Amino acid sequence: MSRPVAGVRDKTLLITLPGSPKGAKENLEAIIKLLPHACSQAAGANSRAQHAGGVKKLEAEAGVSSSASASKPDDHHHHHHHGHHDHSHAHGHVVPRAHTSPSERPPQSNDPNAGPTRRYRESPYPMLSVDEALQLISQHTPDPAIIEVPVTTALVGSVIAEDVYAGEAVPAYRASIVDGYAVIAPETADAGPSTKGIFPVASITHANEGGTLAPLERGTIARITTGAPLPPNANAVVMVEDTILATTTPDGQEEATVEILTGEIKPRENVREPGSDIALGSRILQKGDVITSVGGEIGLLAATGTRTVRVYKKPCIGVLSTGDELVEHDDPRPLQGGQIRDSNRPSLLSCLTSWGFPVVDLGIARDTPAGELEQSLRDGLRGIGPKSSADVIITTGGVSMGELDLLKPTIERSLGGTIHFGRVAMKPGKPTTFATIPFKPTSASPSSSAVQQERESKLIFSLPGNPASALVTLNLFVLPSLHKLMGMGQRQQQPSAGTAVSVPLGLPLVSVTLAHPFPVDAKRTEYHRAVVTASRTDGRLYAMSTGLEGVGQRSSRVGSLASANALLVLRPGGGKMDKGALVEALMLGTLVAED
Ligand code: AMP
Ligand code: MG
Repeated sequence: MSRPVAGVRDKTLLITLPGSPKGAKENLEAIIKLLPHACSQAAGANSRAQHAGGVKKLEAEAGVSSSASASKPDDHHHHHHHGHHDHSHAHGHVVPRAHTSPSERPPQSNDPNAGPTRRYRESPYPMLSVDEALQLISQHTPDPAIIEVPVTTALVGSVIAEDVYAGEAVPAYRASIVDGYAVIAPETADAGPSTKGIFPVASITHANEGGTLAPLERGTIARITTGAPLPPNANAVVMVEDTILATTTPDGQEEATVEILTGEIKPRENVREPGSDIALGSRILQKGDVITSVGGEIGLLAATGTRTVRVYKKPCIGVLSTGDELVEHDDPRPLQGGQIRDSNRPSLLSCLTSWGFPVVDLGIARDTPAGELEQSLRDGLRGIGPKSSADVIITTGGVSMGELDLLKPTIERSLGGTIHFGRVAMKPGKPTTFATIPFKPTSASPSSSAVQQERESKLIFSLPGNPASALVTLNLFVLPSLHKLMGMGQRQQQPSAGTAVSVPLGLPLVSVTLAHPFPVDAKRTEYHRAVVTASRTDGRLYAMSTGLEGVGQRSSRVGSLASANALLVLRPGGGKMDKGALVEALMLGTLVAED
């Protein structure tokens, strides 16, 4: 993996080729046909005249017509890895392609020691679309890790990692569905005596019965309650409504005989056979199933006596605020000068907690002294004291273009991380940054136990400091990654067509109708904070802005999210979108019902 480096000094064209013969040959082949042109330029030819016909014409003259090389850059990559070096590389290598991975390149971030005069005045990170950013996040989010845990209420929100089979049948015995009398019903009308008539009550069974029951003798019946086991020989239950009391015991306290009013009772009527709810060994939960708060899944596990279950480990998320201006939100002292209260940490921590993730509060890292940010990140990744180590760290602030915007340089230069993107074409949230940090688990890691698998790389989401931007990007970018880490979308549904469908990660996407006109940005997709209401008259979803005029959607305005339950995806365009237009909305919270 190498690339030729070329430059011009005086009138000499300098080209360096890699040392390996193979690399040198390939690189030289790639450029040789363009050398005459390059040389004439280096020698001082009029480049304007030479380029008049365009690059295509020049390439055609040089015999490297790029349109003729139909193969994609990816194809070449492919060939290299498979060692097909014998075919000609005369074509195709004019298509620019990276020979290094981002981690092999020098950092793009500012060198904080260089001072404000040497910093970039425009972000060197390419501006990605939201979809490209999501794609990179998905690609660099590790696969979920599996742990075995006891079946408790703490399981809610976890995803099942392995199919679960019933270790016990439910019910374990033949159980009555109604309150009434256990009887011996004939298979057919003339196969035995009818159930109709007066019978002595031989025994009583309640739902709490342990032990063994005496068999029911022909010509007698047994009083039984819902859920109780049928005595041996009994094959059906007559409900109490179909009976009347005939005689009592001498003390008048108990039923002596009971009259059954119907002869229509069929064998197995009002009886749940063993395993008829859940058969022994049947699959009760499937890999990828979410244990919901509704309770059905926990119920299945509990009913079948399942004691432990394999689930995907939920990632632990560290939240760090950055900035010299920040003050703890509950600091009783009045604010001074440029101080602001740290609102991002409490709002991000509550959002993550409500999603069911374990969190670690990493506090505030000051921009100065230098090194505090690095230390906070290292502490978060490793876990200090009683705090568990974070699989994912979310920071806010420090990703704009100021000289104290230290996140990118700290990740790249101090922690050896790789920044996968540092700018996204969206509003709000443009400076959103995503990085991975290689991580070697320490054997002494306090939280490590035999079943816990440590992840080999940790994720850092550096979100913009503005409160609305931080919350929007948390929902848009961090949530899908957390979903992947916790094993959502592992379920392969097999619809009739037989093609596997994967569950979408992140917020649910719905279509909504605008209740009033919305302004749209000329260039960037806007994630507009809105209230979506379900109409009771026409069954449609209507969206209203949480604040339009002036400061309404400003990214610093945390209140723009205070009542919002949705982010409207407003694609760039001219001017505005009309009332009544249909747009996509990402649901942040539950629907509001119309008054
Ligand atoms: P920065 O990218 O660090 O320049 O931050 C952008 C803006 O967000 C600045 O006005 C910060 O003061 C503000 N900000 C940064 N962090 C927080 C926070 N934790 N809570 C509230 N506002 C913040
Ligand atoms: Mg800052």
